[in-house]
Amino acid sequence: MVPFLRGKLKSLFSTDIGIDLGTANSLVYVKDRGIILREPSVVAIQAGTKRVLAVGEEAKRMLGRTPGNIVAIRPMKSGVIADFDITEAMIAYFINKVCPKRLWSGMKWFRPRMVIAVPSGITEVEKRAVQDAAVQAGASDVILIEEPMAAAIGVGLPVSEPAGSMIVDIGGGTCEVAIISLAGIVHSNSQRAAGGDAMDDCIRNYIKRVYNLQIGERTAEDIKINIGSAFPTGEESSYEACGMDVVTGLPKTLTISSEEVRSALKDPVQLIVDTVRSTLDKCEPELAADLIDRGLVLSGGSSQLRGLDKLLSKETGLPVMVADDPLSAVAEGTGLVMSELDFLQRNRRS
Ligand code: ADP
Ligand code: MG
Repeated sequence: MVPFLRGKLKSLFSTDIGIDLGTANSLVYVKDRGIILREPSVVAIQAGTKRVLAVGEEAKRMLGRTPGNIVAIRPMKSGVIADFDITEAMIAYFINKVCPKRLWSGMKWFRPRMVIAVPSGITEVEKRAVQDAAVQAGASDVILIEEPMAAAIGVGLPVSEPAGSMIVDIGGGTCEVAIISLAGIVHSNSQRAAGGDAMDDCIRNYIKRVYNLQIGERTAEDIKINIGSAFPTGEESSYEACGMDVVTGLPKTLTISSEEVRSALKDPVQLIVDTVRSTLDKCEPELAADLIDRGLVLSGGSSQLRGLDKLLSKETGLPVMVADDPLSAVAEGTGLVMSELDFLQRNRRS
């Protein structure tokens, strides 16, 4: 086909897609349309096989409620690809939902180009796995960008300026901290035990230890979101949670206070503080001076934990701001990267 005509057709039919492949939630950004898909990063499969039964919202509803023959899996949990085939199925489902396969199948030129945000701590092997999974799922070209860089761009930090910017992205499975200057990551730290999942586990363990009550993952997350905090905010409250009494084996309800939840969350919260501090410790004096003026920005779902901004500000002495839409920052960043081709070439990880 004449190259000019091919280019025209390509721009008519194909879509550039940005994906935030999160450990808890995946978001898809489509060029010129913005974020059009947000679904949990969950895949339900038939036990003992790799037959995918459901992906996303539908699969999340099955978490913890599956009969013996169905397992609900979070393939990106803790920021690594736990299972290649399942990750591929998940990426394929997301792509297909925003860009039906009939548009590009068999026509290589119309396959979507993808910018995918991956955790900064992942290995070369894991990067390759994401890339291969995206190509298998239908991508023509895959550009990987590190999650904290995408988040920083998404929240509007001036990443290409010769001055330090700091982003702390706290999701489900990881806490990623990065200091960025001149469009590059100068220092970074990725902590797999300081995300929202670790907080939920701490709440479950606390309730089991103190009340002999076994609660589910979803209940623990509800408690955290409703009354969890990292620092006293002056508004204490309580929450009624249902679980199973480990002694009698019967369902039981308990009322837990926000003070108790705060004490249960102490360890993962402290780990976030330590991760931020150790990244700051590596910082050169000039960059440190920039950060004293500009402060740091929090993104990711877990940055919404009450009082976390105040605690981090107290512990670091820096101004701390939570992004306007912390759950969308990374996906917005992949979208901006797509439109900034020059920048994209410099950060190309493929
Ligand atoms: P990921 O990027 O790893 O997919 P997200 O940025 O989507 O993660 O954030 C998901 C995490 O945010 C979950 O652990 C969820 O429980 C947590 N979360 C969502 N809302 C809140 C809230 N209001 N307070 C505390 N944690 C929250
Ligand atoms: Mg994320």
